[in-house]
Amino acid sequence: MTPNIWPNSFGLHSFSAGGVGSFYFFKNFKLLIDIGEWHPILETAQHVFLTHGHFDHISNLFRLLSYRRQTLTIYAHPGMLPNIAKACRALEELNGFDPWGYQWQDLAQDINFEIGKNLLMQSIPLVHHKYSNACLIWERRKFLQERYKNLDTKQIQSLVLEGHNVTSEKLSPIIFCSGDTGSDVFQIKEMFEAEVCVLECTFWDDEYRDSAKKWNHLHIYDILDVASQFDNRILLLSHISNRYSIEFIKELSQKLRNALHKNVLLLLDIPYG
Ligand SMILES: [Zn+2]
Ligand SMILES: [Zn+2]
Repeated sequence: MTPNIWPNSFGLHSFSAGGVGSFYFFKNFKLLIDIGEWHPILETAQHVFLTHGHFDHISNLFRLLSYRRQTLTIYAHPGMLPNIAKACRALEELNGFDPWGYQWQDLAQDINFEIGKNLLMQSIPLVHHKYSNACLIWERRKFLQERYKNLDTKQIQSLVLEGHNVTSEKLSPIIFCSGDTGSDVFQIKEMFEAEVCVLECTFWDDEYRDSAKKWNHLHIYDILDVASQFDNRILLLSHISNRYSIEFIKELSQKLRNALHKNVLLLLDIPYG
């Protein structure tokens, strides 16, 4: 298995196929979102966010834990902890391993985790399986206050030397990653604004339109309905069912490409494509 590597996306390495496995590794931030497949690069992850407990999203967590020497931090819904802990204990025992080291952080809507300098992680509950969460990463950015905008560099420097605070801070959404989800994900406005938006869109044909709704998965038609709202730099569609041919996906994606603003780069995470 070779991951896709996406330029200008914070070092994103990904692999994703619906029902098979998914991971999204933002190498620059050591941030891994889901781990349903394996590649040695994942050993350098420090923060592991689990969107939900389906096998194709967590199955290789145990391999990562068994390879790691340092403790990593797992961010997941508290309802998942008892079963993850149980699975770890069973595998430790079967393999005769020492207990695996990990720190567990319960995801809660009102808690943002610092995962690096000026980087905050937020979880947003979604409807898919029980305990489903999307991952949103914010960057804290400084900008010059409005009232100083007419000053030149020297004037600003002297104000700073005099002890004035000339900047303000704001949070910008830089990464959004849905995990499996139904169309309730469109309620999240930052999804449309994040620099990189990863949406798991499993179904693409007429036949599976109703089933997608029933199983709380996105269908390409759902995305087409809201195409004009995307304002991302990169929109990556992933977790596509392998029942479709690459030609079919590429052809249909052209419809979406035509409906998006021209500043949005549409990418397709097609495994082995
Ligand atoms: Zn899945
Ligand atoms: Zn799922």
